[in-house]
Amino acid sequence: MSAAEPVRDGEGADIVGPRNAERERQDPFTVRPPASDHGTMPNLKWSFADSHIRIEEGGWARETTIRELPISKAMAGVNMRLKAGAVRELHWHKEAEWSYMLKGKARITAIDEAGRTFADDVGEGDLWYFPPGIPHSIQGLDSEVDGCEFLLVFDDGNFSEDSTFLLTDWLAHTPRDVLAKNFRTSESRLEKLPSKELYIFPAPKPGALSDDRKTGAGLVPNTFSHRLLQQEPNRMAGGSVRIVDATNFPATKTIAAALVELEPGGLRELHWHPNSDEWQYYIEGEGRMTVFGSESKARTFDYRAGDVGYVPFAMGHYIENTGSGPLRFLEMFRSERYADLSLNQWLALTPRVLVDAHLKIDPEVVADLSTAKLPVLPK
Ligand code: MN
Ligand code: MN
Repeated sequence: MSAAEPVRDGEGADIVGPRNAERERQDPFTVRPPASDHGTMPNLKWSFADSHIRIEEGGWARETTIRELPISKAMAGVNMRLKAGAVRELHWHKEAEWSYMLKGKARITAIDEAGRTFADDVGEGDLWYFPPGIPHSIQGLDSEVDGCEFLLVFDDGNFSEDSTFLLTDWLAHTPRDVLAKNFRTSESRLEKLPSKELYIFPAPKPGALSDDRKTGAGLVPNTFSHRLLQQEPNRMAGGSVRIVDATNFPATKTIAAALVELEPGGLRELHWHPNSDEWQYYIEGEGRMTVFGSESKARTFDYRAGDVGYVPFAMGHYIENTGSGPLRFLEMFRSERYADLSLNQWLALTPRVLVDAHLKIDPEVVADLSTAKLPVLPK
């Protein structure tokens, strides 16, 4: 397939200078925007393929933050791989951490401020949420992909995976005599302490989960893991939606999410969100989104598996499956509750004469609009 040319309705001209045709093929509506696109909109797309990868023994990490995608002030994301046994070392951070397991299996552990404990094994489609400041670990387990790969989302676009509080980093920067006093031992017994952070490192594979479930002061009152794929989806003619927020996963106080599946040609209806920016991660397939930014501004972006999309607070948008297979993506919001406004529902619940005075469309079209939300519409 040749790349699109910036030619539309007899206007424009072909590109004759240097070009990155592979890149342009992935973004046909950037090269040749629809006539309805207009004005200066911020960039709302980043691909993890363009993020620096930090390679460590047993895994890697790459991030999409405000530095990669400047509009993404509310949330940031990390894509991480751990081979079986490899550990993302014991750490904590200022931001809350929400995660979706993409492939494979991991063991996660944490404790809270009351000494209550958490340990679980998570697999594909499982989530976890660690509140701000709560110390935790992630370790790859045996699986069909030798460990795991997951997506982390943080409730601050300024997050950096490189500036978390690491156990070994802290101890390497505390005088040995203080450590000896703290651990009630002698300095000679601390000689093997790492001299710098481990971050991601290989370790013996853990045993049975029951052995790793420490008693402490009981269990955390709200579990930090959730089986999203075991949730019955809201099925519609064009696809399905699973919504997860503090209503069905009480621990997740600052991130709400939806896992959307669209059939080919299916449409995530025109809508907006009244409470948060939206951070998207594309898991499978190809999709297209136009974001309406008021003041006649609108811009269309094409996305595919591994890409990140972003919608600033309250801006109207839709997502269409433009590929030949299913489109699956995650929508994340910095909120305790998932909330959206459906254009169709709004019009269906507004006085008919008032709608007609605005839109002048066939009255039957408006009469047929569902008064219930239909988040996913067939082609
Ligand atoms: Mn973390
Ligand atoms: Mn949305």
